[in-house]
Amino acid sequence: MAQLAKMGNTTRNRSLLRVEHLNVHYRTRRGLVKAVRNVNFELGPRENLAVIGESESGKSTLGLALVGLLPRSAEFTANQLVYFGTHRPLDLSSCGEENMRQWRWQEVAIVFQAALSAFNPVLSIFDQFVDTARAHGLRDRSEIRRRALELLELVQLDPKRVLDAYSHELSGGMRQRVLIALALLLEPKVLILDEPTTALDILTQRIVIELLRKLKEELDLAMVLISHDLSLAAELADRVATMYAGQFVEHGSVHRVFYSAQHPYSRGLIGGVPRVQGSVQDLTSIPGSPPDLIDLPSGCKFHERCQYATQLCRRKEPVMELVDTVGVGHAVACLRWRKINEAASGDRAQEDN
Ligand code: ATP
Ligand code: MG
Repeated sequence: MAQLAKMGNTTRNRSLLRVEHLNVHYRTRRGLVKAVRNVNFELGPRENLAVIGESESGKSTLGLALVGLLPRSAEFTANQLVYFGTHRPLDLSSCGEENMRQWRWQEVAIVFQAALSAFNPVLSIFDQFVDTARAHGLRDRSEIRRRALELLELVQLDPKRVLDAYSHELSGGMRQRVLIALALLLEPKVLILDEPTTALDILTQRIVIELLRKLKEELDLAMVLISHDLSLAAELADRVATMYAGQFVEHGSVHRVFYSAQHPYSRGLIGGVPRVQGSVQDLTSIPGSPPDLIDLPSGCKFHERCQYATQLCRRKEPVMELVDTVGVGHAVACLRWRKINEAASGDRAQEDN
């Protein structure tokens, strides 16, 4: 279990972030929405973890929990949610809102999903930088300007043009890059990006992916990339976790998860992406739709959509099990992963004959 909780950290003694048994429930009139359930992982310096999954799998909720920005209707519990950054370890599960507010954006920053509409329309881009800086006690406008110009250049924008503009004067791709620059203002050690490319056209997506790749190479920054865009994960992540009904159901190196996925859900997600050499017939999709998070099915939460499910899967909920301990490790929460693997290898062998 200890090994599983530490999954993923290649520099085990130097974790930047440790998350243990994280749960988030939203109180609603219909009942408790179990949006995140028992999530465990560690993130080392400069590591990139991609969290992928269908809509409503709890990805954004996880991101908000990691920065302590959940709405009041959310109930949050964790054994540990600790940042080991530049300051003393900060345990979000016990530090209180005031402490978190102080360190947020210095330890960890987030670029929100659909954040393109998050700008204040009556403030210039420079004033948005000033606002963020002031909230953390930085008052020297010329110093803020110098830093803002530097960051806008880093995200490959024309700094002088952008700094005095208003958000409505910028394209979607420019605004996304401004938001990334803003998030970097206080030099966080961890940056969470929630769907950074989803709202953008294909060419602008490419620009943002290239920018994130550059930041990954040049900055001392770990990232959590939340997305249903698998290409983003494949290009930028070191590790991938697939999320289903609020849980991580598979977690491993990007190579292991993309080339040797063990969970039928991960196989379905990856099978739905066209390949250059594949044909349209090779594409698969996952039948059915995600479960109601208020009234979750018994046993494995994926069993109603899984072609391999047995009676046991309907009764018993699988826990994460190590498939491979090499490197960052590879774990899966499926009772039948060995059998499914054998069946898949058999099919491949038949195709070869
Ligand atoms: P998407 O890919 O569509 O962005 P997601 O994986 O980010 O989805 P979340 O936004 O985390 O999913 O939502 C997970 C579940 O929590 C959903 O069922 C959603 O309806 C519910 N939820 C999210 N925010 C709230 C809230 N403030 N109050 C109640 N329920 C919420
Ligand atoms: Mg989301």
